[in-house]
Amino acid sequence: MEDCLFCKIVNKKVASDIVLEDDSIIIFKDINPKADVHLLIVLKKHIESVEHLVEEDKELISQMIFAAQKIARQIGVAKNGYKLQFNVGRDGGQIIDHIHLHLIANVK
Ligand code: 5GP
Ligand code: ZN
Repeated sequence: MEDCLFCKIVNKKVASDIVLEDDSIIIFKDINPKADVHLLIVLKKHIESVEHLVEEDKELISQMIFAAQKIARQIGVAKNGYKLQFNVGRDGGQIIDHIHLHLIANVK
């Protein structure tokens, strides 16, 4: 997807502050954080949104959640908790049409 910002970040054509990466996922800091911790867990595969998921994407979605758990533990927010949020479509607040999971935490 040539015009997709998150595909460009995945392909390192646009810079981002990457905190974790594996074969199928990249996690980077949100450029406009809405809390003390605001990370974006992004699938490398271009899927528009949760609405566009198909049965065969099950494993990838599961990997996103485990990646969130892993990074939450690594950065030390797991104990006190965090929020995971998918925005879906315009009325759901989705601006970037490349599936991503927000990890948000306010550190006390
Ligand atoms: P959405 O509203 O689509 O669920 O979330 C998109 C998120 O991407 C927003 O929180 C926004 O701040 C973030 N974002 C938009 N452009 C960039 C960018 O170029 N780099 C990074 N790191 N985050 C971005
Ligand atoms: Zn994309």
